[in-house]
Amino acid sequence: MTVPLLDREGVFLLQKHQRTVHHLDLVPQRPILKLENVEKIYGRGANQVQALRGVSLEVMPGEIFGIIGLSGAGKSTLIRCINLLERPQAGRVYIDGVDVTSYKGKSLRQMRRQIGMVFQHFNLLTNRTALRNVTFPMEIAGVPRAERERRALELLSFVGLQDKAHRYPAELSGGEKQRVGIARALACEPRILLCDEPTSALDPETTKSFLALLKDINRRLGLTIVMVTHQMHVVQAVCHRVAVLDKGQVAEVGPVTKVFSDPETEAARRLVKEAAVGA
Ligand code: ADP
Repeated sequence: MTVPLLDREGVFLLQKHQRTVHHLDLVPQRPILKLENVEKIYGRGANQVQALRGVSLEVMPGEIFGIIGLSGAGKSTLIRCINLLERPQAGRVYIDGVDVTSYKGKSLRQMRRQIGMVFQHFNLLTNRTALRNVTFPMEIAGVPRAERERRALELLSFVGLQDKAHRYPAELSGGEKQRVGIARALACEPRILLCDEPTSALDPETTKSFLALLKDINRRLGLTIVMVTHQMHVVQAVCHRVAVLDKGQVAEVGPVTKVFSDPETEAARRLVKEAAVGA
């Protein structure tokens, strides 16, 4: 299936962002990420919670793909199933056509290097400077010291933090911490960036500049971004397509403009209404 890569104004991305041409071939695209009938159950017996019920999704290379839904809909579980931080009980996860669902050990570690992750509460190591937070994944990957420091400085400069490389997390603002989080997520040159509620802990101004950075990363690096958020304005600001999750199921998937202007399901209508009230 070919999904047209349209941005929010309906412009074909290939025309608008010439620099990402190598990621957006003219031939039909293969999804960079595909989930097939993913099921996730937590707990046992009376405490059992079915967080995901047969979730199937396709994300195309170069997309910013949003996942929205009410609290408890299964959004965080879904994003964590992509890099197998959570193991689905059934279904398959494909990265660039390769079934990674049962990867373990070395193959899992290698697969995870292709997938960077940004967290709501930054998850920085408090006893390491910004620079050494960014070098951390490269240390694990065995990148030589000089090379990882060079690259970490380059990444910190890319996210606008070149002068804060030697600061500790406690000496950085929320927005700066999230930028370090992004630089760290990019350290191993991932093909997909997962963002779990990346702006929930940021104030409106910081959110705006963080979203501008995400868009810039998507355009300049052609990086695919999958983002979970409960903030509708965030989806409207940056995502090309969005999936609406409702009680562990995909209720609706489509271009952001379509889902927000003409929602087809009750679950989507509820969220869109909430966005209109919050606007
Ligand atoms: P969302 O991110 O949309 O708020 P979650 O994926 O966090 O939803 O949660 C989906 C459902 O799974 C919720 O009912 C939640 O309570 C449950 N859940 C999530 N994580 C766990 C866990 N580690 N153990 C048990 N239940 C969990």
